[in-house]
Amino acid sequence: MIPTPDLSHLRAEDYEHVYEPAEDTFILLDALEQDAEELTSMRALVSLEIGSGSGCVSSFLSSIIGPSAVLYLCTDINPRACDCSTATGRQNKVPLELVNTSLADNLLARLHKSVDIVLFNPPYVPTVHHEASVAQVNRDIGGSWAGGHDGMQITDRFFPQVDSLLAPHGRFYLVAVAQNNIPHIQQRMQQDYGMGSKVVLQRRAGREHLSVIRFMRI
Ligand code: SAM
Repeated sequence: MIPTPDLSHLRAEDYEHVYEPAEDTFILLDALEQDAEELTSMRALVSLEIGSGSGCVSSFLSSIIGPSAVLYLCTDINPRACDCSTATGRQNKVPLELVNTSLADNLLARLHKSVDIVLFNPPYVPTVHHEASVAQVNRDIGGSWAGGHDGMQITDRFFPQVDSLLAPHGRFYLVAVAQNNIPHIQQRMQQDYGMGSKVVLQRRAGREHLSVIRFMRI
């Protein structure tokens, strides 16, 4: 069993502005642990986490595939989340490289088809469109969950980017809830980008029915 990263350096004040790891975070950790053997044997050189928040997920990935050989890139739209992720990397002896940007904006040209592992636990909660848009502009804690129509407003914008980023043998892990319409997501990713997918883990957490979908090019 791989231990959860040490987050003891983060305080209650941090979690007023930055997403505190919760069930959606932990299901993603469990999916990565379940795939540990394959993730190790693919000899990844670059991983990219979108919306890294506390930095818990990328730090955990590094304890699976090792801290030194891989470039651990993370982005977050929230500058405080970038600071927390950097601190969590330091605390867990993983050099997480943070970029304060939306999705993978500004990285696309440099990372074209070269990212081995892409991770995204997005703001997936269905809200009105306006709430998600305002949260994106405010770049604070509200941006952690407000997902607009079907909870897909932010994730939908990322799909063309993941196609541009993912290496031929790469893997993309996405957290989703039932309201996001998972079969429809899978169908679109196959039709639009030739990515096959599998729901690798499912779990009920309170009122949320959480899934982790793993995408790979066919
Ligand atoms: N990855 C962390 C985890 O699993 O605990 C945080 C997940 S939280 C549900 C979603 C994260 O995405 C937040 O840190 C939020 O600031 C970030 N986020 C929201 N919109 C974003 C965007 N357009 N680009 C990058 N990050 C974004």
